[in-house]
Amino acid sequence: MHKCKKSCTFVSKFCVMKVLVILTGGTISMVRDAHSGSLCPADLHTFKAYVPEMFAGDNHVDMMPFDPLLDSSDLNPDSWRQMAQMVQEHYDEYDGFVILHGTDTMSYSASALSFMLEHLRKPVVFTGSQLPVGVLRSDAKENLLTAIEIAGAYDNDSNAIVPEVTVYMDGELYRGNRTTKRNAEHFSAFTSYNYPALARAGVHITYNRQLIHYGESLQPLHVYDQFDTRVAILKLFPGITEVVVEAVLNIPDLRGVVLETFGAGNAPTHEWLYRALRNAVDRGVVVVNKTQCNTGSVSMGHYAVSLNLLKAGVISGYDITTEALLTKMMHLLGENPNDIETVKQMLSSSLRGELTIG
Ligand code: ASP
Repeated sequence: MHKCKKSCTFVSKFCVMKVLVILTGGTISMVRDAHSGSLCPADLHTFKAYVPEMFAGDNHVDMMPFDPLLDSSDLNPDSWRQMAQMVQEHYDEYDGFVILHGTDTMSYSASALSFMLEHLRKPVVFTGSQLPVGVLRSDAKENLLTAIEIAGAYDNDSNAIVPEVTVYMDGELYRGNRTTKRNAEHFSAFTSYNYPALARAGVHITYNRQLIHYGESLQPLHVYDQFDTRVAILKLFPGITEVVVEAVLNIPDLRGVVLETFGAGNAPTHEWLYRALRNAVDRGVVVVNKTQCNTGSVSMGHYAVSLNLLKAGVISGYDITTEALLTKMMHLLGENPNDIETVKQMLSSSLRGELTIG
């Protein structure tokens, strides 16, 4: 017998889970304007009319929109705060949350929310679509309906099956902070290069429970909401010049740099590169080594060409994605403005399953 959660209601002998769908915008929310022929965000009423099935399933579904609805290119840390606040304000009322979001920056938002929401015990599932909800062949419906099902999935002991921030798209459920948008054309827009799918949806939804993180802590949800945006991404390339590197590392007030390196975390051995990095680190800038390869991990010291980075005080990002590293850095610098050692130590550890050390 299912032990009922506080927020669900009984209808005859079934327990109805409550899911809140937060609509932020993106392609999923758009319809084609009859006059101009271009895609524009629909209003909430029109959106709901396209997916009446959403309210006809086993879960009780409510919806709340951003105002205005936005393309995800226009989202930023304030938007992440707004999403986290909506989850926090309605946390006790609902069993799970779906965030409808443009696919372009979904991996950044999902990563940011994973760091913001500590002691999360309920599902927060991001999804979107490659074709607007108003287009006949759209992938919107399947993505939305399956995301709602995952957000309301609880076991017989009243525990959420996936109490994590995740991304669902085209049959695959991934840990959000492991995802990258890899395709602007196919329905399978996302992948997770360094961590397997948490669930697959076909005829049935099959959960891979050994891969899902179940926190031990019974502490209440805590929301972190500080971000420091004084960060930069410096991508190395063969022939990169000293002026380019110096221009980035000498940005006034710079606090953190994602250094995108070659292979297992390698870089040219120029003395000027070592000096520029050393100077930045000595000024208190946190520099993290992120390989340009999608799959695999940074391993500084494996090749001689990465020894200078180690000597300069660059720290390893292991197998983290750029999206997770950037948002984690912004979050840690924002929450610990005067404690660079804590920031470095937390960047080198897994906080929400975003990296694997080793
Ligand atoms: N430009 C859109 C967005 O990210 C693309 C999408 O939703 O797929 O908002």
